[in-house]
Amino acid sequence: MAKVDVKCSFCERTGSAKKHGQGKADHQRYRCQMCCRTFQLDYAYRACHQGMKK
Ligand SMILES: [Zn+2]
Repeated sequence: MAKVDVKCSFCERTGSAKKHGQGKADHQRYRCQMCCRTFQLDYAYRACHQGMKK
C-alpha cells in the first residue's frame, strides 16, 4: 500500500490522516488520527487555487 502523505486541513499535521472512504463525486475522504476530523483533499486544493489566482 502506498503511504498516505496527506496534510490535515484542521491541525495541519502531515502523515496522520488515513483514507476514510469516498464522498460524492469520487472525492477521497480522509480522517485525521490526531484531531479525529474527516476532510476531503479537494477542498484544500480548491482553496489553494483560488488563493493563488488573486
Ligand atoms: Zn488533524
